[in-house]
Amino acid sequence: MIKLHPNSQQLSEFAQGQCDPGVALIISAHIDMCRCCKQKLVSVEAELAREAMAEKAPADPAFDSMLANILQMPAASAIEVPVQSQKLELDGKEFTLPRSLQRYASKINGWSHMAGKLWQAKVDLGIDGRADFIYMEKGGSVPEHTHRGSELTLVLDGEFSDGVHDYDTGDFIARDGQHIHTPHTDADEGCLVFSILDKPLHFTSGLARLLNPFSQLFFK
Ligand SMILES: [Zn+2]
Repeated sequence: MIKLHPNSQQLSEFAQGQCDPGVALIISAHIDMCRCCKQKLVSVEAELAREAMAEKAPADPAFDSMLANILQMPAASAIEVPVQSQKLELDGKEFTLPRSLQRYASKINGWSHMAGKLWQAKVDLGIDGRADFIYMEKGGSVPEHTHRGSELTLVLDGEFSDGVHDYDTGDFIARDGQHIHTPHTDADEGCLVFSILDKPLHFTSGLARLLNPFSQLFFK
């Protein structure tokens, strides 16, 4: 079950087109997976429309009734548009992606197999920072780290834990320099996430600290 969602401010900025493109993409993918946020977005958009109209036409009953009619129409974002399902493939496994991410399945430059039962596929969004699909096999983990910037993660398939919380398919996870975590999964099916970073990771413990001079490698 989805427990973690974008907050109200993030949804409002998303509705107003004020998010960075990478952030907008990952919020949009969460909304594809989350009925609750889909409904919230419809009411945020209705509220924004009401505010915008109220500014233009302060007390006009005819305008109010027209607006009420418009707001009863289904919002574009609530209409399901069937698309041909584009699967993401890795090592014989197939994953169905949320609609907003489907177009990127064919645009990744292959998977790199990293240490710790981790697979990484960079997605070129043409933005600052980086975006990756990351797959953790059962028993896989990312060395303990914190962030110099912010890290947004959407769980696409499976579940993982970071030593503090457990995360399930659809969860939208926002982390920054205040959080130290060690993502790992014990799920039989492993865990696929989509992640957006604006600055390199900073590894904090054990041998992984030796990686810090090279953490740009995780960031290329
Ligand atoms: Zn949600």
